[in-house]
Amino acid sequence: MGKCMIIGCGGVAGVAITKCCQNSEVFEEIMIASRTKSKCDALKAKLEGTTKTKIQTAQVDADNVDELVALINEFQPDVVLNLALPYQDLTIMDACLITKTHYVDTANYEPLDTAKFEYKWQWAYREKFKEAGICALLGSGFDPGVTGVFSAYAQKHYFDEINYIDILDCNGGDHGYPFATNFNPEINIREVTANGSYWENGEWVETEPMEIKREYDFAQVGKKDMYLLHHEELESLGLNIKGIKRIRFFMTFGQSYITHLKCLENVGMTSIEPIEFEGKKIVPLQFLKAVLPDPASLGPRTVGKTNIGCIFQGIKDGKEKTYYVYNVCDHQECYKEVGSQAISYTTGVPAMIGAMLVMNGQWNQPGVWNMEEFDPDPFMEALNKWGLPWVEDFNPTLVD
Ligand code: NDP
Repeated sequence: MGKCMIIGCGGVAGVAITKCCQNSEVFEEIMIASRTKSKCDALKAKLEGTTKTKIQTAQVDADNVDELVALINEFQPDVVLNLALPYQDLTIMDACLITKTHYVDTANYEPLDTAKFEYKWQWAYREKFKEAGICALLGSGFDPGVTGVFSAYAQKHYFDEINYIDILDCNGGDHGYPFATNFNPEINIREVTANGSYWENGEWVETEPMEIKREYDFAQVGKKDMYLLHHEELESLGLNIKGIKRIRFFMTFGQSYITHLKCLENVGMTSIEPIEFEGKKIVPLQFLKAVLPDPASLGPRTVGKTNIGCIFQGIKDGKEKTYYVYNVCDHQECYKEVGSQAISYTTGVPAMIGAMLVMNGQWNQPGVWNMEEFDPDPFMEALNKWGLPWVEDFNPTLVD
């Protein structure tokens, strides 16, 4: 069907690219372009011979719009799939505008010097993308991503009005290290050390980091402590889901993770303020990232399962109704299939699906869109087909 340029070659990209190569009818040609070309070449070498997809590689600095434009003009992709870091979202969107190329990403823009992610910067591109006749699909990972699709699906098929959404992200996996993060450590730690917040009656309610804790018994995982975090999809779902009164996001963390994080925070290692070290400016959090295990190396040693989903409460035909839809993913099965643990898998598969739906026209409208704004059905079907089957529960335990 067409050509896709994938930017970034880390944990999530490794899965998305492997999945594109399993789906060669759609992804006839791909280009893997990233900062470190040797990683792109290594992945190409691993996949070639197992796929009909033609693979090219390139070095690119995704902070540099001119470099991106030159590469896009050379390869002429139908869509650019941005799997670099959130800091690169705007430069890649600029390059897509200049070259009139569709755009898909998995995380919203965040300035490097402010640990605050929100959609305002990317939503500001709406008119420009519309005028250029190109589509930007924002946040096509799991959360955000599938959580938006689950919400649109609940709204379309089961509710007249959804009043409450709780998004529960449980990682029951064990990698055997006292402390490691399952995806990019810098992005992960910025997310969990920030203040928490939830959306209630049209406004944000802010909490201290990890202030709100609940226990939940997750299917196929068991009982876990989970903590309320701010998360980007709360912002778009609050606007796009009818009748919403409250949306919260909870993520599970083990005691060892929390104790280590608290200690690192207390000694200043999670700070994003540059400090002077031996005549050089360094950012403590970036230095910490350099000494922590690479998330891509956790694959072989992580056992257990993830369970991520949404609990909805609302009204159907005048009656109260609850609905829980979730996916369970096994770390070792992911590793056997694509060589990565489930966190990269649960993000990389939806990234491939989002790019596919934009390419085949099922999800393609000029403008800038969040996941819940498109028809959820083709995405839900693709999740079952491409490795993230979902389970429905019409009588779930609610979170108080
Ligand atoms: P990694 O750090 O493993 O990979 C990032 C990749 O981007 C690396 O290959 C890196 O290059 C490359 N990169 C970074 N800066 C540049 C640049 N300036 N130019 C070109 N390439 C660059 O991250 P992950 O794979 O864990 O995460 C990828 C994205 O997925 C992130 O935005 C993250 O927030 C998002 N995510 C979304 C989730 C969701 O559910 N929605 C869940 C998890 C992650 P190099 O190899 O040289 O370092």
